[in-house]
Amino acid sequence: MSRPHHSSRSGTRWAVRIIPLFIVGILAVATYAVVGRLCISYLYKKKGQDGVVTAFLVLYFLFFLLMAAAYLRTFFTVQLNPGVVPLAPEDQTEREAAEKVRKRHKRNRDVEERAYVPPDPNPDSPGLEAFYSKDVFICEVDGRPKWCSECQQWKPDRSHHSSDLGRCVRKMDHFCPWVGGMVSETSFNFFTQFCFYCGLFCAVGLAVGAYSFQQHHKDGDPTDGWALATIVLACVFGTFAFGMALTSFRFILSNTTNVDMLKRSSTLTVAVRIPHSTPPSDKYPVIVYPLRGPPRRPGSEGQQLHNNHGPISARDQLAERKFAILRTKPRENPWNLGAKENWKSVMGDNFLEWMLPIRHSPCCNHENMESDYKFGPLIAKLRKRYGVPELEAPSRGGHGIELQERGSRRASD
Ligand SMILES: [Zn+2]
Repeated sequence: MSRPHHSSRSGTRWAVRIIPLFIVGILAVATYAVVGRLCISYLYKKKGQDGVVTAFLVLYFLFFLLMAAAYLRTFFTVQLNPGVVPLAPEDQTEREAAEKVRKRHKRNRDVEERAYVPPDPNPDSPGLEAFYSKDVFICEVDGRPKWCSECQQWKPDRSHHSSDLGRCVRKMDHFCPWVGGMVSETSFNFFTQFCFYCGLFCAVGLAVGAYSFQQHHKDGDPTDGWALATIVLACVFGTFAFGMALTSFRFILSNTTNVDMLKRSSTLTVAVRIPHSTPPSDKYPVIVYPLRGPPRRPGSEGQQLHNNHGPISARDQLAERKFAILRTKPRENPWNLGAKENWKSVMGDNFLEWMLPIRHSPCCNHENMESDYKFGPLIAKLRKRYGVPELEAPSRGGHGIELQERGSRRASD
């Protein structure tokens, strides 16, 4: 995907244009102060402290380069590949027409009138198969996936609608004007590296400022304005950057996002695949895919979607996939894989990937046939809690072929 995604809000668009210039300006002033005034003019030329100056300059430019690399990678990823969920091509024209109406409404300032579009009642709704061809997915209480009224399509696991981009974004974190847009699964690792290196860069600036300040003081010279300004700016930006880096590390280690944090007190409903032979249980409802029956009108009860149809052929029955609809408790995170695996799913498999903005996070890969994002031990716990049987090995193997077929068909779509 190479089409730039810009914010739909003009204020944000301006912030996105101005802030990078502001950052370049700050860096130019910082370099002039730290390198030109404090290191070269004062510590090297006046005090002759070659060793100290060399150490400061090496550290300064090392973290400068790492920070700049992480920043540029984040900035361009956010612009070119912010992790938006592609729109189903089928109803592109319909959607464009709806978008025009919406824009006209917006111009007329009656945004309130933006009508809620209910979930597609069609049992063969485009995009549904991508959900039930996996073994576990996030759903609504009726067993169908979550629906985005704005994008008018099913929402993949962990995606949320961004009003800034006007689209659903996978593992959306937050809209950050500092890096020019939406931080999400495609950029969170680079963003974290940027915050971390920015913090270290400020720490070096603080060290140079504090050392120069102390030298002035020792010699009984009047306080140097550049040293003082460097200390203040390094403290302000450094505290901010380290704060962001620490928050990011915490999110990565617990496999959560800003958006998850806001919703952590609510529960999630999960569709978990069960064997065909599972007898009905009063502990949990069940949904069978593909959905059957005539398309239903919006607003009709989800429960009716559950296989209310006449006799079906043995072949169709074999292709059916049955899911138990289970509910988590508040604050339970089904994606928590344990700190180490959580870290690797975002930051990558090796030390080099952790330190340098080289590759996208492994969690950006959604080709796994079990689920969109890898689920943690909570799913097994839920199965136990609700008394849901495990998928037997033969049934799983037999369906593996069917899964691959579905997968490849989807990929070629
Ligand atoms: Zn959306």
